[in-house]
Amino acid sequence: MSGHSVHCADYTDPIPTSFATTDELTPAAALAAGLRSIPRPSRLAEALSERGQTAKGLAVLGIATHGDLVEHLPHAHRDRREARSLATVELGEEATVAVTVRSVTVKSMRDRRRKRVEAHVSDGSGSMMAVWWGQPWVARELGTGAQVLLHGKRRRRNEFSVTEHELLGAGDAPIHTLGLVPVHPATAGVTPETLRRLVWEGYGRIRHVVEPLPSAMRVAEGLPDRAAAIAGAHFPDSEEEQRGARRRLAFEELLLTQLAVTARRRGHAERRRALVVDGGGHLLDRWRSSLPFTLTGDQLAACETVADDLGGERPMQRLLMGEVGSGKTVVALDAMLRVVASGAQAAFMAPTETLAEQHLRTLDRLLGGSVPIALLTGSTPAARRRETLARLGSGELALVVGTHALIEPTVSFRSLALCVVDEQHRFGVRQRAALDAKGRSGPDGGRLVPHVLHMTATPIPRTLALTAYGDLQTTALRELPSGRRPTKTHVVDGARARARAYERIREEIAQGRQCFVVCPLVDESEALQARAATVEAERLRNGELADQRVALIHGQMAAAEKQEAMRSFAVGAADVLVATSVIEVGIDVPNATVMLIEAAERYGLSQLHQLRGRVGRGEHESLCICFGDPKLPRLEAIASERDGFRLAEIDLELRGAGEVLGVRQSGLPEFRVARLPDDAELLERAHQWAERLLEADPQLGQPEHVLLHDAIVERFGSDADPIPA
Ligand code: ADP
Ligand code: MG
Repeated sequence: MSGHSVHCADYTDPIPTSFATTDELTPAAALAAGLRSIPRPSRLAEALSERGQTAKGLAVLGIATHGDLVEHLPHAHRDRREARSLATVELGEEATVAVTVRSVTVKSMRDRRRKRVEAHVSDGSGSMMAVWWGQPWVARELGTGAQVLLHGKRRRRNEFSVTEHELLGAGDAPIHTLGLVPVHPATAGVTPETLRRLVWEGYGRIRHVVEPLPSAMRVAEGLPDRAAAIAGAHFPDSEEEQRGARRRLAFEELLLTQLAVTARRRGHAERRRALVVDGGGHLLDRWRSSLPFTLTGDQLAACETVADDLGGERPMQRLLMGEVGSGKTVVALDAMLRVVASGAQAAFMAPTETLAEQHLRTLDRLLGGSVPIALLTGSTPAARRRETLARLGSGELALVVGTHALIEPTVSFRSLALCVVDEQHRFGVRQRAALDAKGRSGPDGGRLVPHVLHMTATPIPRTLALTAYGDLQTTALRELPSGRRPTKTHVVDGARARARAYERIREEIAQGRQCFVVCPLVDESEALQARAATVEAERLRNGELADQRVALIHGQMAAAEKQEAMRSFAVGAADVLVATSVIEVGIDVPNATVMLIEAAERYGLSQLHQLRGRVGRGEHESLCICFGDPKLPRLEAIASERDGFRLAEIDLELRGAGEVLGVRQSGLPEFRVARLPDDAELLERAHQWAERLLEADPQLGQPEHVLLHDAIVERFGSDADPIPA
């Protein structure tokens, strides 16, 4: 360890001295001292000595030091474990052969400029002509009698076309032609061959890699040490070694992320306190029994979990996931009423004004007038706003619904104990801070921050939830309320299917039902989308749906216009609503029974599922028609699967973790080695370790955790806040 200690800022042991003197070594001399113990990370911090094109290429790859090179892991291995005898290589087959060179000639090709090298080679089984194209210098390397390994393909009966070769007998092990040959990500100036050679030349330094994992953990998980894993990731002797190496490095990566997010969550919960809410009783019982339905098992369990959180001093940070119609609002209201029953206030925050208004209607209906509730958004008239603010300040008003306007500095609550945040991914760290500032002072003068219940209708597989929202605890509503009729989904293509679809729409409208037509997603531009929707609405009014009342809604319309379109559709004054994907969230018209989605292949799987959730909300059987290629895996999935969580998992398999939520949006860290969902099991284990370690050692300050702490800081920075808002 002494080699490493030189780097430590808080190094307190005596500085090593020169042999048989009391003179302290200078840092440079200490680093250069002939210490035999490993690791010596300074050996990895040394710069590579490559020049020219290679150096430029390495810089592009972000490789400056030996350490960078060691961490530049191969993305694949070519299996060249077996050297074959010439006679067994079939025509057209690719193989590695070990042969002796009998004679070498360089021939000009017909165009006179390019050369080809021909070597007559043989082994015990036979002989052949080995051929290199356009690499005349090869001839100089190959003397008569040279022993070489050739990798290539038998092109003709007597011709072996060489892609890579290595001379044997130079005292070095073959790395390009034999074994599991690593292929590293390369770029202009550095080929995979160069990288392979450089890594091999620096192979001895791998033993200086520092092991951050405590040995007890490594033993329990059966993981190789870090140096062995890095070595095995580059040049494995077997697939088993390679798998073990990958598993170890993936685990480490997942563990570091889990430690960082878990530490953040714990930090937030530990540093702050919230109002203890243990209300309930009559108010809650009365309300529950007033509902026209009974809660599902999932809803009851979620209500219990939330009630437990509210009853604690630690502020709740919980994500409630459940697809559209799964009854999240009821769970949220249950929590809000607990708060009201204990004499405090609760707020419900939606991402847009339209949604806030809709939530107000839903909540009001569910409350049945038992508790007053008000609306506060950016467009609340001044007089109403003043009145609402006054009632919130005095505590007379216990429930409020609104937009981000709720957490503006001018709003103050007498005793805000809970905030429900709908669609959590639009809520960042800054909003959280603004919300925390709305809490009231506690008995000891400290601020009591509100509990927060986030809600999302985008079901996220647990694997993603752990990485993207590792700082939230999650609860899922999987069970749909009884009496829901699943929406039939058809993916169709072609003019006849299209004609049939409009016929269906007319039939439904004749029955008194309503219908959505969703226009194609036109790149990311709202303006283009709006235009497309406008054109489509016009086309339908003059064509297939000429006899129906067609309304239009898109993101570029003024708020009042949008509201009017929504309102007229909701009250049945329009039969068809032509829309862009703005209707993805929050529209609740139980009488709408058909959803037609144009160019469905432009939409992501979860988006399609969200859109489909706009129908099937009432007593009538509903239908979703997607125009698109029925053979497309995504569209096949939407047609055959109804469970949003299952669809989210399929989406993850089809697209990979980074794509599903968008790396930036979700704050999902990018992994070098780990792959989700494949490494889900490993992630789960890493998550458990992270919880356990931080429980025992919240600061990771114990000697066996110090290197782990250093690794987190190196990866995520010192504030250990890997998920920016
Ligand atoms: P979400 O917010 O998850 O989309 P909501 O809470 O708005 O779902 O519920 C959707 C609809 O289902 C509402 O009309 C609600 O009254 C109704 N609902 C909620 N829970 C149940 C239940 N357990 N049984 C029957 N209907 C329910
Ligand atoms: Mg809802």
